[in-house]
Amino acid sequence: MAIGINKEKVILFPMGPVSDELLEWLLNMLPETAGVKGVKEKQTKIPFGAYNRKREQYLGDALLEYIREMDHYMKGTLIGLINADCYAEGHNYIFGEAVLKGYQAIVALPRLRQSFYGLSENPDLFRERVLKEILHELGHTWGFTHCPDPLCAMHFANSLSDIDVKNTHYCELHS
Ligand SMILES: [Zn+2]
Ligand SMILES: [Zn+2]
Repeated sequence: MAIGINKEKVILFPMGPVSDELLEWLLNMLPETAGVKGVKEKQTKIPFGAYNRKREQYLGDALLEYIREMDHYMKGTLIGLINADCYAEGHNYIFGEAVLKGYQAIVALPRLRQSFYGLSENPDLFRERVLKEILHELGHTWGFTHCPDPLCAMHFANSLSDIDVKNTHYCELHS
């Protein structure tokens, strides 16, 4: 990892129901894929203030702002796992969002599930996608920008197939 990166402990923060099995698998994978330790927090509700009634989606920026307020009593990089569809201004939806060189990120889970697209569920594929999205957003919190290598975790994913071709690690540009 590049010199000067302060890799704080990662805190997985479930907002809405997230299975404990998924959380444990992610915590297990974080050291070898991201080189960082993780812990999990208790599940909370998704803040209703972030909800956009017209769009029936949650605004990523508002969720990040909410997570920022948790910093007072949680030391580390907080990653909100949101079990609801999210968006950003100018985008129909987002898979995740992070504060560049910050301590807050979110990953939106629904569009990472096969069932969202009317397909039968694939738990292994789902958890791998969640991990890749966590790696991507975590990289942003460390100051990594988007990478031209389509296999790199820092490559921008426009669609689910972009996520599926990525590796569960960063390319050498970020080491
Ligand atoms: Zn990105
Ligand atoms: Zn890269």
